[in-house]
Amino acid sequence: MKGLDPFNSPLELSFFPQKSIPWPAPKTNEPWLNIPMLPHPLEYSAYFIDLDGTVYLGKRPLPNIKEVLQYLREQGKRLLFLTNDASLRRERIAAKLHNMGIAVTPEEIINPSYVAVRYLRQHHSDTPLYVIGEGDLPGELAAAGLPLCADPNQIGAVLVSTDHRFNYRKLKTAFNAIRRGAVFLATNADRTYPNQHGEEVPDAGAIIAALEACTARSVDVLFGKPATLMAELALETVGLPAEQCLLIGDNPETDIRMGNQLGIPTALVRSGVAINRKENKSSDQPLYILNQLTDLLGGSICK
Ligand SMILES: [Mg+2]
Repeated sequence: MKGLDPFNSPLELSFFPQKSIPWPAPKTNEPWLNIPMLPHPLEYSAYFIDLDGTVYLGKRPLPNIKEVLQYLREQGKRLLFLTNDASLRRERIAAKLHNMGIAVTPEEIINPSYVAVRYLRQHHSDTPLYVIGEGDLPGELAAAGLPLCADPNQIGAVLVSTDHRFNYRKLKTAFNAIRRGAVFLATNADRTYPNQHGEEVPDAGAIIAALEACTARSVDVLFGKPATLMAELALETVGLPAEQCLLIGDNPETDIRMGNQLGIPTALVRSGVAINRKENKSSDQPLYILNQLTDLLGGSICK
């Protein structure tokens, strides 16, 4: 594939299959002959679309997003939006999108707090729960009937999420509870996220790392990407086999890894955290690379 640089494509369509053909390559200098036959990215039945970095950056929608989503809906595609933002309820995420002119229902959104509520109700409905988190998360858990608790002697489960007010007291409470045997849960493990200025700032992964360092324990259950619980819920929601769905996101370590783990075809967009990366050197390789979501349409309606 030498000579093909998907990030600097001179071609009209900017999606590129990323896998080599599984049989011996023909002896040719024409790189296109070494590309396997893959479905066109518009041929899938359902699309699992990341939000931050794929649909919007901070509070700004990316260009022509509304048009591409409308086109997919007109083609009868199922759309679900998978985000690692656990600080907002699904209704508030839908309202945030609505304010950007993007029509999405709360039922089309899957975020880690939604996955966590479903999991905790099923497995730990009576377990005293300590939450390191912010925004809607504590209220959403309480509204679901889960018993919140801050007494390290009573806590049976610790849930870690993004928390701009994380401090030593919270670290110590969670440390004591986990050392006593509490279940160690996390909404998401992102190391950073892009803020509205496009700057990468610390995310829940940094808090998880602090707790793992002092407790010598690893997270027992992760609800967000790249763990598979979220994608399993997405597949269950659309009722389709993995190969009929396309997962699109800007982060190889979360979006692409989750899709690859379940055999869901993936597309990496360059509009978010991968924007400054010349190439994706991780082991989490997507099936397609797009400069942005609108490349799905080959630029035909997005001029
Ligand atoms: Mg993203």
